[in-house]
Amino acid sequence: MDTLAGMRPDAVKIWVDDFGGSVNKMDSAVYKAIITEAHQRKLRVFAHLYYAADAGRLVANGLDVIAHSIRDTVISDALVQQIKAAGVMYIPTLSLDEFAFIYAEEPAWINDPFFKASLEPGVYEMITSPEYREKLRQTPAYAKNIKGFEIALQNVKRLADAGVIIVLGTDSGAQPIRAQGFSEHRSWNCSSVPVSLPYRRSPPVHNMPQKLCRYPIALAAWLPVKRPTC
Ligand SMILES: [Zn+2]
Repeated sequence: MDTLAGMRPDAVKIWVDDFGGSVNKMDSAVYKAIITEAHQRKLRVFAHLYYAADAGRLVANGLDVIAHSIRDTVISDALVQQIKAAGVMYIPTLSLDEFAFIYAEEPAWINDPFFKASLEPGVYEMITSPEYREKLRQTPAYAKNIKGFEIALQNVKRLADAGVIIVLGTDSGAQPIRAQGFSEHRSWNCSSVPVSLPYRRSPPVHNMPQKLCRYPIALAAWLPVKRPTC
């Protein structure tokens, strides 16, 4: 942590996930120590997670930001209140979850010039090929990924309804299929989500020009807020 703090990061992100049972999950004793040590150096801790149970334990141990959606189950009122009371922020990264299955279908925006321009060379040809679509449909986690996305939408609505701060985040660029630029526009939800990110180098979300809000994700339909037309 001393080495990390010396690099002056904005935050520390930890992975608390077993990736569908394929790897060992970080032990709670380890993340407790990381959170304690990070806070001593005035660094906030973000967690990559998947399961509601881990979210509860992490928040109880001082986590600052949940950095993916909780996707295994629709969260309980108790967990919603726990997250809210702790002042923990929530980054749903919905586009990451949508990109895990959406190209098996033919999304309405697949031929949009803005989307196409956001892709690396060759990616459009790959994701629109029948072979790729079929391969995606045959992925063992295909149905689970769709279900996880639907649960993610319900959870972000529950948390937003309760007044938890929802923050934009996409994981775009981590893989070629996660279109950079496009993801942000799609997830931004036309600045109607009550979002803010009090970290340096992060512009206030509300300054987003409305004309850029062309691709509101389904999230918009779930939130009890008025979306500007754009
Ligand atoms: Zn992550």
